Amino acid sequence: MAHKEVVLRTKDLKAHYVLDVPGGKKIVKAVDGVDLEIRRNEIYGIAGESGCGKSTLMKTLYGLVNRPLRLINGSVYYSKDGGAFDVFSLRKPELRRLRWTYMAYVPQGAMSIFNPVIKLKDTYSDFLGSHLRGKTEDEMFAIAKEHIDQLGLPVSILDAYPHQLSGGMRQRVAIALAALLRPSVIFADEPTTALDVVVQRGVVQLLKDIQMSLHNTIILVTHDMGIHANVADRLGIMYAGKIIEEAATVEIFKNPLHPYTQFLIDSLPQFGDTGERASAPGQPPSLADLPTGCAFHPRCPKAMPICKVEAPDMTVKGEHRVACWLWDEGGVA
Ligand code: SF4
Repeated sequence: MAHKEVVLRTKDLKAHYVLDVPGGKKIVKAVDGVDLEIRRNEIYGIAGESGCGKSTLMKTLYGLVNRPLRLINGSVYYSKDGGAFDVFSLRKPELRRLRWTYMAYVPQGAMSIFNPVIKLKDTYSDFLGSHLRGKTEDEMFAIAKEHIDQLGLPVSILDAYPHQLSGGMRQRVAIALAALLRPSVIFADEPTTALDVVVQRGVVQLLKDIQMSLHNTIILVTHDMGIHANVADRLGIMYAGKIIEEAATVEIFKNPLHPYTQFLIDSLPQFGDTGERASAPGQPPSLADLPTGCAFHPRCPKAMPICKVEAPDMTVKGEHRVACWLWDEGGVA
């Protein structure tokens, strides 16, 4: 059971891409009013189709907001040493100090984390050398070997170049590297994309092992609800730049309240089922041209007149939150 101490908090967080286009600006509302309370000692999953803003949300939570992305509203507070800090109030050197030691980020496509022309042991040395002062090469190599070994990875990979590893092994080494300095929060963005199912299992198990050993927080973005079912303690469902439902993963799968979440779950293959799976009709909306009211209304089989004109607020039912008129106080449910 996840501990309830909050480690990361946002309120009405908005981050938009502001693009110069002929004749003006185009605003892409990738993160558009996100409230989150993510806890210490849990794996928090963020789910949703491609193009709903998940990866931009991750970057924003990590304080990686570079143009054309802009912070429009809100703060991202982290708890640390009995206090709290807003990631956007830190100066660059402070932020650099916290990265990898307090918070670590594994981007999509792990290759970008490595220097392709040096062996992994040298990547480890560079990494350790820039964070741990006064260690000799031999001491750093010993730390790297012990770390790799503890995570169940072959120590021989330290002598390899990144391109010599399989995609799955590279992904696991990237995650291992992110965990090296025992950060309190690790972000993992689509870590299993483009891997086959068996390899995915190894990556998921590594994330679980790291979380169990560090008792830290892992924030995992993937569109794959099967992965979330396997690894996440709690789940936030994202649609059109907003979290539209949140609950314990078991509760979401047992009792999905939002019609979009119901589609995500219904589209998962079931054992022994050879029929077609239902998926949400149509496509996610353009984040540069969102529908009025509830952004899901053009695809929603339960849409009502109010859904087209007014966006629903979040309704809280214990630990389960949902933004849908069906569940609004005084609604029709
Ligand atoms: Fe469907 Fe309306 Fe609920 Fe949106 S608010 S998900 S359109 S019922």
